[in-house]
Amino acid sequence: MTGGIGSGKSTVAEAFRQLGIVTVDTDQASRKVVEPGMPALTEISAHFGADILQADGNLDRAALRQIIFSDPQQKQWLESLLHPLIRKWIAQQLGAAQSPYVILESPLLFETDQVQLVDTTVLVDVPVELQIKRACARDNNPVEQIQSIIDAQLPRDIKRARADRILDNSLPLETLSERVATLHRELLKLIHSTN
Ligand code: ATP
Repeated sequence: MTGGIGSGKSTVAEAFRQLGIVTVDTDQASRKVVEPGMPALTEISAHFGADILQADGNLDRAALRQIIFSDPQQKQWLESLLHPLIRKWIAQQLGAAQSPYVILESPLLFETDQVQLVDTTVLVDVPVELQIKRACARDNNPVEQIQSIIDAQLPRDIKRARADRILDNSLPLETLSERVATLHRELLKLIHSTN
């Protein structure tokens, strides 16, 4: 399952969990692999210096973002360290899931090789204006910041063309569980037709 920032992925994922479906979040994966005690964090602090850690031993994400934002080479170094670890964590979670199917929730499914990990794709879709409105309201962030994140993601029409299914999330929240239940039934049918 994918969708741009503020499209409603987390909200939709929660509705699927209510139906007993396991969901795996790629944003969570990128946080997990750099938790204290994980080998990646040791490598990061050896590479960037201990200042990259907060007093409590957690990664100072803001400081790291700052460094890689202005230095493509460091960004490359970090990505080549984290990418395989994130992929491994995701694959483990997907493999361990005990539900008829499992949802991989990723804002960058089509932008990365994560799409290779799934059998079918669902786009949580809203018009860009609504995406901006909801993301700004949720995070209290300026429109420009949300817009720059949207600009770094694949355009909506390309995602719409690539997705196997589209969940329209411009509709009111009250109707979401019903629409998720319909999609859930479709996905169960898909499993039965392919097994
Ligand atoms: P991100 O990629 O930034 O993590 P997301 O795709 O997970 O975002 P959500 O956090 O689920 O998006 O939704 C963004 C905001 O929009 C939240 O405040 C959520 O409560 C709200 N929202 C989600 N779906 C709807 C809806 N159908 N109607 C109204 N508000 C909604």
